[in-house]
Amino acid sequence: MEKVDLNHVLFGIDLEAAQELAKREGLPPYRATQILEWIYKKNIESFQEASNLPTATRQRLSTEYRLHALSLVEEKASANGESVKYLFRTIDGELVESVLIEQQKRKTVCVSTQLGCKIGCIFCASGKGKFGRDLSAGEIVEQVAWIQKMKAGAVTNVVFMGMGEPLDNFDETMRALDILQAPWGLAMGPRRITVSTSGITPRILDFVKHVGGRVRLSVSLHASDDAKRSRLVPINRKYGLGELKKTLAKVHHSLKRQITFEYTLIDEVNDSREDAEGVARIAKPLHAKVNIIPYNPIEEEAFRTPTDEKIAMFRRVFHEHGIRVTIRKTAGRDIDAACGQLRLNRKDSERRAKDG
Ligand code: SF4
Repeated sequence: MEKVDLNHVLFGIDLEAAQELAKREGLPPYRATQILEWIYKKNIESFQEASNLPTATRQRLSTEYRLHALSLVEEKASANGESVKYLFRTIDGELVESVLIEQQKRKTVCVSTQLGCKIGCIFCASGKGKFGRDLSAGEIVEQVAWIQKMKAGAVTNVVFMGMGEPLDNFDETMRALDILQAPWGLAMGPRRITVSTSGITPRILDFVKHVGGRVRLSVSLHASDDAKRSRLVPINRKYGLGELKKTLAKVHHSLKRQITFEYTLIDEVNDSREDAEGVARIAKPLHAKVNIIPYNPIEEEAFRTPTDEKIAMFRRVFHEHGIRVTIRKTAGRDIDAACGQLRLNRKDSERRAKDG
């Protein structure tokens, strides 16, 4: 895949870059924050809307730069109205998938950080097919800004759990986190942001350091023994459970919030009492909570959703150990809610249309 030139895209610039831009354009320094405000807070369609900038500046910015890195292709709501999937097209014609989940007063946007994913968890649609490329910080933040704009400023939380492994695209993910939190950016509180990782342990340490422990950390566990986890989450062959536990033990005191373990519960794969006890043994010393995600079938794999009894048994085991547990509803199966599925389906239909 060709490297896409995002140098002239303004979505994704930070304060320093905006100051350089102002300088290059012969503008006084205070114009830098005005430009950032138009980009991130007002999320304008064109610089012609930037009413407090001189007409000549608006003209130059419009001709020299591109505001957005993404355009909306498709929006698909689930039947119960709790989630909406968005497909965006990048400048180089690729597809990015994001989801808005509305539950009670929370409006959470789940963002993608890569086109595809190199980790290849066997139950996940994002890991299927060829890896494309890392997304830029602008492309990551723009998913939130787009949805924020379409939903009239309603986004309350952001989770880095869409397509891709955020810590495998470390620098751009950290830049996106900076923009999401910056007062000149989207000004979101760090406790409203969660980064989810499959367990790239050296990067977990770097991430906690970068965000000062303030952004929430979520770890995709999915199994409590190395043999099973290596099968489900192949990165485990490189960074095994022992190392993961050691790393989390190191960072959990500097994290301002509880670690969450994500556990995709799959029928007859990782749903035994022994599995549940194993997860409890990992979570307890870390004071972590566990989020159970009953498996959402994707077309490419033959795994099944666990029975209600198994879900209840998992909940019971965690309660017995005094571990906080939540069960994620499998909302929106009708909108291809499995991560990466809508993108795969769309890519397939576009390819078929092209082949005639
Ligand atoms: S679950 Fe996450 S880390 Fe695993 S393949 Fe899917 S996107 Fe990548």
